[in-house]
Amino acid sequence: MADVKITNLKKAYGNVVVLEDINLHIADGEFAVLVGPSGCGKSTLLRSISGLEKVNGGTLEIGGTMANNLTPIERGVGMVFQSYALYPHMTVAENLGFGLKISGVSAADRAPRVQEVAEMLKLDQLLDRRPRALSGGQRQRVAIGRSLARQPKIFLFDEPLSNLDAALRVEMRVELSKLHQDLKSTMIYVTHDQVEAMTMADRIVVMDAGRIMQVGKPLELFNSPKNRFVAGFLGQPATNFLKVTHVAVEGDATRIHFAGGSVLFNGTPSTLDNAIELGLRPDSLFPVGEGAEVQTTVELAEQLGDETLLHTVLDSGEKLVVKLKGQHAYKPGDKAGFRSDISAPMLFNGSGDNLFSN
Ligand code: ADP
Repeated sequence: MADVKITNLKKAYGNVVVLEDINLHIADGEFAVLVGPSGCGKSTLLRSISGLEKVNGGTLEIGGTMANNLTPIERGVGMVFQSYALYPHMTVAENLGFGLKISGVSAADRAPRVQEVAEMLKLDQLLDRRPRALSGGQRQRVAIGRSLARQPKIFLFDEPLSNLDAALRVEMRVELSKLHQDLKSTMIYVTHDQVEAMTMADRIVVMDAGRIMQVGKPLELFNSPKNRFVAGFLGQPATNFLKVTHVAVEGDATRIHFAGGSVLFNGTPSTLDNAIELGLRPDSLFPVGEGAEVQTTVELAEQLGDETLLHTVLDSGEKLVVKLKGQHAYKPGDKAGFRSDISAPMLFNGSGDNLFSN
């Protein structure tokens, strides 16, 4: 068990800077998820923590020890990759025990550890099989078990569920979360999947273009994104962004006007300087017959059974996606009016800062 402290970390490949100004403290026992679009540097950061990559600047401490120049084994990290990287000619038991074997642990001492890990991951009935006779989910469990058996100080996961089908991903996600609850180990997990990030993380680290955009608990980031990038990245369907025409303070609330209407937020931001864009979550509007604050025309209604996704357009031509609970019989061309019910306001200035975030 160990914490990870990263200070001013920089990584470049030749002239191309891939990570810059990375400052991050992951507490002992924390499940931290690195999330961001493809190419933003998540894997490079994970590989830098593991020791598979050498960094070009800054410091990395693991459990209070300076780790910049340590090998992966000296760092005490266990990595689990997207490609399971199992040894095909070895049984499950041999795969699970391999790390221990090369560390010089005797066969007699390995056996109980392998058994314990196999039981924890529900692999105990499969110990004599070879990887090709396992399902994708079982293979990934062996890959996880292999690093578990070595009892690393920190676990590093690089998109471990990407190769699994949707149902299995959900199952493994829950299993990994339970594993973390049982082990209470420090885990750092890379994904581009915001649902994995929201559901598994104690804290999410949102990255873009080699930098950290925001670090926080999942709901903190969802409710109070610091900037436009985080607001747009978390939430499905994505946040709508509308051009602001003007802003009016009404007592202790703020009304934000845009070309197709207006919405009222509780509270007032510290400044309204350069407020140019409104962020509107698809589920923050509800339909009304009269007294609509937002007027739209429906382009497409997607019926999902438990909810209805309306793809609408404002008079300005701006698109607005609205997510309604339950089933609603809208069809293309219908006029649809809404009022807002917004608990987490988002108003962005020209630099993309959320003026309502504290
Ligand atoms: P992510 O995991 O977020 O998809 P990566 O960390 O894999 O992103 O990559 C970040 C950036 O670094 C990308 O632009 C990628 O092309 C670049 N990159 C990664 N590995 C190398 C390498 N070995 N040489 C040069 N560029 C690399």
